Amino acid sequence: MLMYDIIKKKRDNQSLSKEEIDFFVKGYVDKTIPDYQAAALMMAIFFNGMTDDETVNLTLAMSKSGDTVDLSGISGIKVDKHSTGGVGDKTTLIIAPIVASLGVKVAKMSGRGLGHTGGTIDKLESIKGFKTTIEKEKFFEIVNKIGVSVIGQSGNLAPADKMLYALRDVTATVDCIPLIVSSIMSKKLASGSDAIVLDVKCGSGAFMKNLQDAKTLAKSMVNIGKMAGKKMVALITDMSVPLGTAIGNSLEIIEAVDILNGCGDKKLTEVCIELSANMLYLSGKGDLELCKDLARQSILDKSAFNTFCLMVESQGGDSNCLRDTNLFTKSAYRYEVLSKNNGYIKAINAEKYGMASLILGAGRAKKEDDIDYSAGIIMNKTVGDYVKVGECIATLHTNQSERFNEANKLVLSSIEFSDKKVAENTVILDRIV
Ligand code: URA
Repeated sequence: MLMYDIIKKKRDNQSLSKEEIDFFVKGYVDKTIPDYQAAALMMAIFFNGMTDDETVNLTLAMSKSGDTVDLSGISGIKVDKHSTGGVGDKTTLIIAPIVASLGVKVAKMSGRGLGHTGGTIDKLESIKGFKTTIEKEKFFEIVNKIGVSVIGQSGNLAPADKMLYALRDVTATVDCIPLIVSSIMSKKLASGSDAIVLDVKCGSGAFMKNLQDAKTLAKSMVNIGKMAGKKMVALITDMSVPLGTAIGNSLEIIEAVDILNGCGDKKLTEVCIELSANMLYLSGKGDLELCKDLARQSILDKSAFNTFCLMVESQGGDSNCLRDTNLFTKSAYRYEVLSKNNGYIKAINAEKYGMASLILGAGRAKKEDDIDYSAGIIMNKTVGDYVKVGECIATLHTNQSERFNEANKLVLSSIEFSDKKVAENTVILDRIV
């Protein structure tokens, strides 16, 4: 079999067989197929798409390309959640402790941020002492004892995805539905949970910019998960504005703590309750309404917050900063973005807010870049709010004051105003089972 023929076949819009897909994935991982041929195939897939069978075969080949995690050492049903990536998305930090406090195990492997989207592992590392790399035995022990542990993805989990994702990132082939499906589901199938709730983000800050594409992506992932014997639900949630009010690592931990203390942003709370309820539902805790009540109760009685503190302590982190969030190191400089317009905020480009936060130091432009944990943005105004000239729209935090100018311009350019009152956006757009 020749890689040349596989590329040519896809270029000519023909379907690839299971053998051809297996040949490509194996050859790319063992480096007998070079980057330039893999990149050509990615671009051919980007333009010509894949059939359902091809997408399933690619996902399965990628999920078997390295280690698979056996979670049988953890008792009870294990439930996972995966977000397709967004701006200000700190839901894992909130829902994992909610679900665990209600007796369902969450053994979660999360990723780092790249580009305009943040990553759970970077956020957790903003807590002093918190370790995201721990031995498998310790990981299992923590999940069995506390119900939840969140660690970084093991080096050899779905290596085909790791390599292809890096290649897609630099060849403009990330936002392609069959490639996103195989990337996400290969990791999920390799990481061993019994049930998976997918949070498919839709809007300006997400890879899927419209509802139609988000539904196609969600349906495809749910089907593949079910075929592999997993219990699956996908929620399509709004990412036309950043989620919550904080963007940036320690700023998002502080917001997560506020939500777990019952006093945070209404919409972020709603998304977290819905996601937690679906995780509890898949784990057999009752119907959706009951599961929503259970999730709300775990916030009210502080059991979710206490579980978060226990998880942080058991992974070496300083939980005092969760009990008193003033203990987080603050950035040296703050800057208020002042409105140049009067009017209602009609839309915010979430991707631009993500880029502004990256410029301030909260993210990485390249994988090896360092992160400034205290950097980021606090949103003072959002869609639907009326703003007067000179009013503060957002507060920028950084240790590099020379970055303010560019971030300020980006935030101002991301906002659309209207003279008329604007309806608030809906946060849960659909549920796919
Ligand atoms: N998240 C992933 O893990 N992979 C993609 O391709 C896109 C988002």
